[in-house]
Amino acid sequence: MFHNSQQAYKEAIKSIPGGVNSPVRAFRSVHSTPIFFKSGNGSKMIDIDNNEYIDCVGSWGPLIFGHADNQTIEAIVNCSKNGTTFGAPTELETKMASKIIEMVPSIEKVRMVSSGTEATMSAIRLARGYTRKSLIIKFSGNYHGHFDSFLIKAGSGAMTLGKPDSQGVTENIAKDTLVAEFNDIDSVFKLFNENKDKIAAVIIEPIAGNMGLVIPENNFLDELRAICTKSNSLLIFDEVMSGFRVSKGGAQELYDVTPDITTLGKIIGGGLPAGAYGGKSEIMDHVAPDGPVYQAGTLSGNPLAMAAGLSVLERLNDDVYSTLEDISSKIHEGFQINIEKTGVNANLARVGSMMTLFFSDSDRVKNYNDAKKCNTTLYSEYFKSMLELGVYLPPSQYECLFLSNKIDKNDIEKIIDSNLKSLKKIK
Ligand SMILES: *Cc1c(COP(=O)(O)O)cnc(C)c1O
Repeated sequence: MFHNSQQAYKEAIKSIPGGVNSPVRAFRSVHSTPIFFKSGNGSKMIDIDNNEYIDCVGSWGPLIFGHADNQTIEAIVNCSKNGTTFGAPTELETKMASKIIEMVPSIEKVRMVSSGTEATMSAIRLARGYTRKSLIIKFSGNYHGHFDSFLIKAGSGAMTLGKPDSQGVTENIAKDTLVAEFNDIDSVFKLFNENKDKIAAVIIEPIAGNMGLVIPENNFLDELRAICTKSNSLLIFDEVMSGFRVSKGGAQELYDVTPDITTLGKIIGGGLPAGAYGGKSEIMDHVAPDGPVYQAGTLSGNPLAMAAGLSVLERLNDDVYSTLEDISSKIHEGFQINIEKTGVNANLARVGSMMTLFFSDSDRVKNYNDAKKCNTTLYSEYFKSMLELGVYLPPSQYECLFLSNKIDKNDIEKIIDSNLKSLKKIK
């Protein structure tokens, strides 16, 4: 079934580290080898063995309108005819900035970059430059891209001491990152108390999507807002994943909490490489050339990426989100019934079209510690079974499903039916 993919992987590992350009693609956490794809259309993807899958990953979020979306393709093709890059301003960039500002009210000015990592990396430099403080607080289990300062989640014994997750990150950089627990405001208060007037910023995924989907509880985000304001520290919402995904204005609109800086990525490029960071003018004016915080990019605001992104953002209206909610809630309900039918120890977390099925004994996963306890062996069996039945899921227990509005009635039925078969099989 996967012969050509296996051959392609053998070739790839000769010239690419691990055969992939981003580690999760290697399928290691599901004890398998990657599927190579050749095309996609709407809700479907075709691999190089001609197997067809319903895609529930959507390239990790960007493809809210599915694969090879007509309007996105048209925008890219038309734009490319006039050249692909100028390294000089285009009006498309202003159009993009205005669109973002209109959709995300906490953003008054915005700078475009080429990835989510670049956005978060620049955001903390800006926060440090603006506040003239050095330390940042992040939450264990939150992912903000692969910049050195973020590759720290702290082991269980050293909750407050920065300890790098990756070799190559120096202790000196790690010690400027403090780690708190998601949904535990006391762990944040403690760090603020221990480091008075030293915290430049708190950075958080307001809806955590990189330890599986973990939803913020009650007033957690409000309390973060309050402590940051009180301490003259900036609150950075990393909405690379949740931005334009859970609503037009992202998690900050959904929970009505206003961050100082927001980082964006994924959907913003419509499937091409783009990211952005923005916030209050007063803060953003600290970025070069107006201010002392340097940040630049040869391909930043690239016309093709702007055209693709705009073609998506301009269509994001209430109808799109209600369609997504409709699709996702049906799948959610179907899965819930299947879990009850089969008696598998599992639970579901969902916000709009982001969802995770946790193989967990507890009722709810509310932080990284809970997430760590999931049965990843069961997940990998589940993943493989779904794959064979033609449903492409994230190849890790700790990544969300991202559903597109191209998933139709038949797809929903097939996803739910495959879920039942798979849960029965692995039980
Ligand atoms: C994907 C992601 C990033 C990193 O974005 P890249 O484009 O992969 O560099 C940062 N933060 C969050 C919350 C993400 O989900």
